[in-house]
Amino acid sequence: MSEKRTEIGQLGEFGLIDKLSEGFSNTNSETALGIGDDAALIDSGDHYTVLSTDMLLEGIHFDLSFMPLQHLGYKAVAVNVSDIAAMNAVPKQITVSLGLSNRFSVEAVEELYKGVRAACDSFKVDLVGGDTTSSGSGLVISVTAVGVADKSLISKRSGAQIDDVICVTGDLGGAYMGLQVLEREKQVFMANPNMTPQLEKYDYIVQRQLRPEARMDIIHELKDLKVVPSAMIDVSDGLASELFHISKQSQVGMKIYEDKLPIDKQTYDTGYELNIDATTATLNGGEDYELLFTVSKADMEKLKKHPDIHFIGYVQEQSAGNIMITKGEREVALQAQGWNHFNN
Ligand code: ADP
Ligand code: MG
Repeated sequence: MSEKRTEIGQLGEFGLIDKLSEGFSNTNSETALGIGDDAALIDSGDHYTVLSTDMLLEGIHFDLSFMPLQHLGYKAVAVNVSDIAAMNAVPKQITVSLGLSNRFSVEAVEELYKGVRAACDSFKVDLVGGDTTSSGSGLVISVTAVGVADKSLISKRSGAQIDDVICVTGDLGGAYMGLQVLEREKQVFMANPNMTPQLEKYDYIVQRQLRPEARMDIIHELKDLKVVPSAMIDVSDGLASELFHISKQSQVGMKIYEDKLPIDKQTYDTGYELNIDATTATLNGGEDYELLFTVSKADMEKLKKHPDIHFIGYVQEQSAGNIMITKGEREVALQAQGWNHFNN
């Protein structure tokens, strides 16, 4: 190791991944797609095997003072299934690895696994292995998901074409707004432990944060409608960051309209109360685990009647950049803020 020291925060998460992967090339002909998408693709003859992994750390990704263990188990699986879905693939197996400090009892780990089991049932995946070790501090849960995809149905981040329509499922910004509510209630509770948190009013957005769903329902519906997205990614880091990933890898520009962004009323109302702009939460919040994808204009016709797929803009020339037309009809350049754990 040289004397030089570069802070990880200087590069950011994506810069670090780029730097680390620089010296690697694939030597196996089965490796059809490596680092850089939601999941890797392995050529298995008549289909692709799809592979993705994600790790959640206590204190970074979750706070056990408001995250019930069952929900955490469910979420850890759902976020991996979401990455498999983002390739237009179907998950089949998972492995789950745990790092446990002595703070956790057998009963606590059983609670966590109730959530893992609920997710296995809900997404029809089999738990086939994992690893269990002790951890110096806190809880670590890492899940690897394996899926399958028809070769002709795969959607990478790199396939968006100029004039394609940009689509997003469900609603956005809620998970971030839910987290703000939970953190506020935690502060109130710590200041006065006799206060019970008042969360009924925020039930939807709190659930968006604590127990997100992977949109496998959409993947099955797209197949039934015979629509293959030209590009797809899941919304884990915030819409702006995901738009930039598609833009960079497809070498196109993205144009979205603020008034088309699907935002739930509870997200708006809470934003108003907390003085957080709902559009900002949508663009930079993250953890909604909805699907962002592009389709041809012909395919858009087939999706028009779908109640949970929203058209938010168009793919344009790369030179036109990534922009949003605001409600006031101003044009603003999008910033790929996303989450940067290394700078927090
Ligand atoms: P996602 O948000 O979809 O989970 P990430 O942003 O975590 O994706 O990762 C982007 C890409 O970089 C993925 O292909 C992932 O497998 C890869 N990646 C992340 N961390 C590493 C690492 N430490 N070494 C090699 N590849 C990595
Ligand atoms: Mg992803």
